[in-house]
Amino acid sequence: MIRKMSTAQPLKKLVSCVILDLDGTLLNTGWKESFSVIIGGDEVRLGKPSPEIFLEVAKRLNVDPSSCLVIEDSLPGVTAGRAAGMEVVAVPSIPKQPHLYTLADEVINSLLDLRPEKWGLPPFQDWIKDTLPLEPWHIGGPVVKGFGRGSKVLGIPTANLSTEGYGSLLSEHPSGVYFGWAGLSKRGVFKMVMSIGWNPYFNNTEKTIEPWLLHNFDEDFYGEELRLIIVGYIRPEANFSSLQSLIEKIHHDRKVAEEALDLPLFSKYKDDPYLKSST
Ligand code: ADP
Ligand code: MG
Repeated sequence: MIRKMSTAQPLKKLVSCVILDLDGTLLNTGWKESFSVIIGGDEVRLGKPSPEIFLEVAKRLNVDPSSCLVIEDSLPGVTAGRAAGMEVVAVPSIPKQPHLYTLADEVINSLLDLRPEKWGLPPFQDWIKDTLPLEPWHIGGPVVKGFGRGSKVLGIPTANLSTEGYGSLLSEHPSGVYFGWAGLSKRGVFKMVMSIGWNPYFNNTEKTIEPWLLHNFDEDFYGEELRLIIVGYIRPEANFSSLQSLIEKIHHDRKVAEEALDLPLFSKYKDDPYLKSST
């Protein structure tokens, strides 16, 4: 939960209260100092969806509930926050169920999409040129046949990788649009923009990645070893009213990625040995 303030401060100073799950693991991660109030469910009489825990926090912070923003992943938590008279941003813990969270003031796909400035809070300062830098992560393997969605027909071919063995890696990363560098063993290193989404063939239980290499190749490269370093995030997946607006958005993503990858912050990964496999 965040107490809304108007002064510009880094994120850590903003976070005023955390409500602990039973195991309290967060406290061992170095974040403890960022909170001025820490409370556990055992400190109130009624658990969520009762507003009691949130009202108790407001009291301890010495602020009015109406000037608090709650960030919640559970339905009872959203209900409790609203009942406390607070604004609530839901980050559903169950994927693809945003419609269950209608009580929330906003439903976001992941914490990557939290925009404090929408709630009268200072913005995060790590966004740069419409991108959010990430701790880089790697994925690679031979290029496989995709799902026959005809991306190439749209002028947006995506070189699919088998995600076998990468299930847990992908589950750590929310669906959405990302960018980074792509290395093809025989062809070099290229800028890349990609989406992480849900595999339509496995009843949406598995994620897929769809990297578009930002280069014109005069032939396909199925079977070749492709290595990716993902360095930043652009936006969540979205629904588009028409194919045309989807294509326009993807071209906009391309522009954002191309410009960002020229920044030293991102361009330095271009020389990473991981991209230059000889397999
Ligand atoms: P599929 O459904 O098999 O992935 P696509 O229509 O997405 O088919 O086309 C992807 C294939 O096109 C890649 O596997 C690759 O061999 C080829 N390709 C050609 N140019 C590119 C590019 N710029 N980015 C990604 N793949 C490309
Ligand atoms: Mg494809």
